[in-house]
Amino acid sequence: MTQHVDVVVVGGGQAGLAAGYHLRRQGLDHVVLDADPAPGGAWQHMWESLRLFSPADHSSLPGRLMPAQPGVPYPGAGHVVGYLTDYEKRYELPVRHGTRVDAVRRDGDRLLVEADGGTWRARAVVSATGTWSRPFLPAVPGRGVFTGRQLHTVNYRRPADFTGQHVIVVGGGNSGAQIAADLALADGIEVTWATHRPPRFLADGIDGRALFAVATARRRALDAGDGDTGGVASLGDIVAVPPVRAARDAGLLHTKPMFSRLTADGVRWTDGTRDSVDTVIWCTGFRAALAHLAPLNLRGPRGHVATHGTRALGEPRLHLLGYGDWTGPASATLIGVGRPARDAAHDIARLLRGAAEDGS
Ligand code: FAD
Repeated sequence: MTQHVDVVVVGGGQAGLAAGYHLRRQGLDHVVLDADPAPGGAWQHMWESLRLFSPADHSSLPGRLMPAQPGVPYPGAGHVVGYLTDYEKRYELPVRHGTRVDAVRRDGDRLLVEADGGTWRARAVVSATGTWSRPFLPAVPGRGVFTGRQLHTVNYRRPADFTGQHVIVVGGGNSGAQIAADLALADGIEVTWATHRPPRFLADGIDGRALFAVATARRRALDAGDGDTGGVASLGDIVAVPPVRAARDAGLLHTKPMFSRLTADGVRWTDGTRDSVDTVIWCTGFRAALAHLAPLNLRGPRGHVATHGTRALGEPRLHLLGYGDWTGPASATLIGVGRPARDAAHDIARLLRGAAEDGS
């Protein structure tokens, strides 16, 4: 049966909830369709020791401050899941968990949202499906011949799963640093951290708060036509959260330049030497999960949908939220998604009110 609604939000992670919060404030009838059976978005799937790179009070969605996690300056993923679960309830957001959207297509003056739990005809759609379901693996020679175990960040849970092994962690970002540190601080695991360039740590006092301030200043400068003040990349890549700092300062983070190929039982380094390896963990990032938008034919360079702010250039009834900076500065962070979510809800409200005045 087809249901009718003003707005469908696809995805019920932090971006989808922030959208729901602002759509509700605009008084728009909406539903949030989320593939996961439980609240929390990607956070419910992350590894056990993960730490946020900002304190709780700098990791909040609109309307409700994240409470501190007792005794922990940088909260863990479980704490974020609790916060998002509470947020969903507190604002009575109409989230339907366990509902995966397969396709969004045009249907005259409406968008048709086809999901495994039904079909919705909507006047606007917000896509907020994140990146977690699209892990990226680079094309490294020999990946197919390696007989050991290979996994991505999305499959990593805890060090105990690797006791007695030689593990190579690939990737010089925050995930690579945190997972390499997690393994290195545990007993009985030999860890090598392979990166394309030497890991670049932010100064110890700098965390996600400073990154957000830099991103905000840059947006203001660009908006004011004052030119590009430079992004966060100039500060470094890795926030030295306490476990990363501990492993680094204890000399446990053994880094090497990226290997040239995988062999049947290990790796060959660029200097020609070889190592045998049990497991390779690819901490090599993600791509936007946009397959459901394929019928709209909007994908441009790098697989993104071209947007003005959050609005799709080729389909004004569609907004994209989260994913990365291309949908708004820091849009893929807890603290950063509030503003683009508000802008998207305002834009949709204007569009629908305009249509109502036209009688459509
Ligand atoms: P998600 O959390 O991935 O939520 C997307 C939701 O959409 C999911 O519930 C999924 O089930 C659903 N979905 C997907 N496809 C469909 C579909 N077709 N139909 C219906 N539903 C669908 N940010 C910070 O602010 N601070 C940090 O410290 C921080 N650390 C991070 C550490 C790691 C390892 C990673 C990967 C990210 C981190 N981030 C951090 C970034 C960011 O906050 C997360 O990536 C965040 O989860 C993005 O939220 P989202 O709502 O856009 O996507």
